[in-house]
Parts: sequence; structure tokens; C-alpha cells
Amino acid sequence: MNQPNDRAPSPVIVARADHPVSRAQISGNALKVLYRLRDGGHQAFLVGGCVRDLLIGIQPKDFDVATDASPEQVRRLFRNSRLIGRRFRLAHVRFGPQIIEVATFRAAGAPMAPEPDLDGITGDDDEAHAAEDLDEFGDVNGNVAEPDEPNGRDRAHDERGRLLRDNVYGTIDQDVWRRDFTCNALYYNIEDFSIWDYVGGVEDIRARTIRLIGDPLTRYREDPVRMLRAVRFEAKLGFSIHETARAPFATLAELLEHIPPARLLDEFQKLFLAGFGGRSFDLLRAHGLLEHLFPETARHLAEEVDGMALALINAGLANTDARVAEGRSVTPMFLFAVLLFGPVSAAAQKRFDSGMPPAVAIADAVDEVVAQQNRRIGIPKRFSFPMRELLALQPRFHRREGRRALGFLAHPRFRAAYDFLLLRAQAGAEDPEIARWWTEIQAATPEQQRERIGAEAGGQDSAPRRRRRRRGGRRRAPPPAEG
Ligand code: ATP
Ligand code: MG
Repeated sequence: MNQPNDRAPSPVIVARADHPVSRAQISGNALKVLYRLRDGGHQAFLVGGCVRDLLIGIQPKDFDVATDASPEQVRRLFRNSRLIGRRFRLAHVRFGPQIIEVATFRAAGAPMAPEPDLDGITGDDDEAHAAEDLDEFGDVNGNVAEPDEPNGRDRAHDERGRLLRDNVYGTIDQDVWRRDFTCNALYYNIEDFSIWDYVGGVEDIRARTIRLIGDPLTRYREDPVRMLRAVRFEAKLGFSIHETARAPFATLAELLEHIPPARLLDEFQKLFLAGFGGRSFDLLRAHGLLEHLFPETARHLAEEVDGMALALINAGLANTDARVAEGRSVTPMFLFAVLLFGPVSAAAQKRFDSGMPPAVAIADAVDEVVAQQNRRIGIPKRFSFPMRELLALQPRFHRREGRRALGFLAHPRFRAAYDFLLLRAQAGAEDPEIARWWTEIQAATPEQQRERIGAEAGGQDSAPRRRRRRRGGRRRAPPPAEG
């Protein structure tokens, strides 16, 4: 087991009779692709996560195919296909919303580009772009533009000095060694429905173990994101990370700090938006990896005495996981608000103390924390802007009378802000009575709402008078009346 590079022995071949993977569990479109490749005289295998998931008995989220056909040959076999990626080309064969990814076997020197994730986190139209973006990372290191990167993180395993780009495609027994974990390196052969196992993956799946292929230190140095992937599979599958794959975390975790923030964002989404975010968080923390992804949050959690930020994270992640289980939409912006709440509150508190108005203080604190966070996980503005608004709106829940309270109900970001209010109340960071009040007022009819908010109003802005409505609503005091 764990042979270096392309000096592979022959695989253990598990015959159809000796494994539980049946064609009935395989997507019809994936079968079509496999059969057509085979009929065209090529080798065709399912590979990676789908084989692993079928062996465990869970529904794979996508089906990846590996073949000895070149990308151009694949392209010619499938009219519904297109080639993606610049340096290492893959074919996407499209069947309506489903895409089957077909990768030509890669040689030992060729980088293992992360395969695009087509699980619905990104919208349909984004898929090709997502794939291309990932491919831009080229190498799993995120810096594969040239093979001779400094600082020992290069892919230059090729002692023969061959240029890597001249040596891209290979055979299955070269392809296997570049994969990360033994459980991810099984091939299902459409020829006779057998499973090819070069690395002891079947046994590791049976033992529910995550084990790296090859020397752990080398494999993590090649691509530190594999540490996060190990944790993701631990969280997702309930496997445990083999001691040999866990021990290097202590010394190598800091290599995550050199990974491009955009790639970490991608990995973050896979860890937190796929229904096991709560477990991912606990495991990242237990393994000492959280501090490399969310340094400010990790520091805050280590220091906080009231446990509020942790309680809010636990509630927020449980909530998100429940939504995923129900098939409802989830957004990274809400998760960022949850995960950064501790550091944001601390930074806002300093500003409150120096007399800054609450909403302004919060918005300002968010900017500070996001700027720090962006050095690790890049938070796109499409997430950080609405997150800032959601957080800066929180003080408005304290105002329960008058037009501005009524207007708040119609605010485009009200719902997200309210969901966050509930979390804060649940975590002990807000008076539960306030959360209950806003829950009730939403259930009331518009007349009841006006009556209730008006009736409870003591302030001047409940007086019936005309004034222009402000948009945005970050000002605390109502604007002076017109006229
Ligand atoms: P999931 O169920 O989350 O899709 P997966 O195992 O299919 O899990 P992908 O990220 O879709 O994971 O990758 C597909 C396959 O590509 C993996 O099973 C693995 O064989 C290989 N792979 C992906 N990323 C890496 C990497 N960083 N290093 C080595 N091999 C990788
Ligand atoms: Mg996959």
C-alpha cells in the first residue's frame, strides 16, 4: 500500500459479487457516459467520492468519471459536452441540470486540480465558472502556474526533470497516487462492475478511517487544504482521521495561512453549508485548525468568559444544518455573521464606550473584523455588505414604537436581521422578551400592528405627521419633520 508515484503494483480487484455497489444506485446519466466511453474503446471508471459514498450506502452528490480517453476524444463522443479548464482540461457532459465530470487519467507529475463541486451551492449558471475558477488554482497548492515554486511547496516530485506540463495525462495506475485519501481513490470499472483498489481504500472504508495516500507530511505540504478535507470527511462521514493523518496537524496547520483566501472560501462553504456545519466547527476547533481559518473568532472563544459567542455559533450552525436537511436555502452571509459575532461585538463595544451611536459602531466594527478576516477566508462583498447591514440593524429591535418600528417590518433585510435576533436571544445575548415581541408583531394583521405599535408609542415620532421616508435606515434619530 501507499506506493510512491507511478511505480504502482496491480490493484486489488474486488469483483461485483464481493461488493455492494449496484448499478441501480448509480445515476442513469453517469452510466450513459461510462457505457459510451467503453463502447468507444476506452477505459471508463467512476472514481472518488461517489464510489466511497456508494460503498458506505449514502447517496453521492455527484458522479465523477475517469477515463483513458483524452479530453478531445471525450468531447467528440458527447455532443452535450464542453471542455473546461485551461491547463488541465476536463469534460463536462451536461444532462439538463446534471453535469457528469469526465477527467482523463493524470500522470504523477500533473497537479491534482480540485474537482469542481456541482452540489448546488453555486447556481447552475455558475457551475462552469466555478469549475474554471477552481482550475485556476491549478494545483491544489493554489500556485501551480510554474512547477518550481519556492519554499518547498512545489510539485517537483519529478526527479527526472521533466517539465510537468509536458506530462499531463497518464494511466489509471498513475492517476491513483495523486488522490488524497485511500477512501477517495477507488475506481468502479464499467467493464465488469468491479472495484479497483490500489491503496487499501476498501479496508479503510470498512474501518471508517481517513488515511492519506503516501507520506502524510509530504502530502499535506503539497496541499495543506487536505487537512481541511480530512476534517470535512470526518464531519460528513463520521469516519475518524487515522493517527498518521492527524499527527501532522500540530506542525503543518499554519501552512493554511498561505492558501489563497478564495480557495479557503470554497472549502469553507463545503465545510459549513452542506448539512454538517456544527460537526465541522467542533472538529476544526478540536484539531486546532479553526484558528487558521477564523483567527479572531478562535481568539475570542478562547478568552470569552460568558460563552455567549460560542452559544450563538452553536445555535446558528444547528439552525443552518436543520435548514439544509429540510432542503431550504442557506447563505454564507448569515454564517459569517454567526461566526464573526464574537469579535464584532467586542470591537463594537469599544466604540459604544467611546460614545459612537450603536448602528454606526457596529457597521464600523464589522468593517474592521472583515478586513482582518479577509486575509484568511476571502469574504466577497456580496456577503460582507448584507452581513454588515444585518448586524447594524440589531439595535433597531430595541425600538418598538412609532413609524420607524412599523417601517422596520417592511425592511428588505428584516427577515435575516430577525433570524439573527432569535439566535442572539437564544444565546443569551439579547432579552428574550424582545425577540418574542417581534415574533408576535409579525403574526399580527397590519391593523393590529399599527394599533399595537402606535398604542405603545410614547415618542414623538408616533405623532401623525407627514415626512419623507428615509431609505437605508442607519440613522438612529428620525429626520426632522418637514414643513
Ligand atoms: P464530496 O462528497 O464532498 O464531493 P469528494 O471525495 O468527491 O467528496 P471532491 O472535492 O469532489 O471530493 O473531489 C473528488 C476527488 O478528487 C476526491 O475524491 C479525490 O480523489 C480527488 N481530490 C480532490 N481534491 C483533492 C486534493 N486536494 N488532493 C488530492 N486529491 C483530491
Ligand atoms: Mg465530489
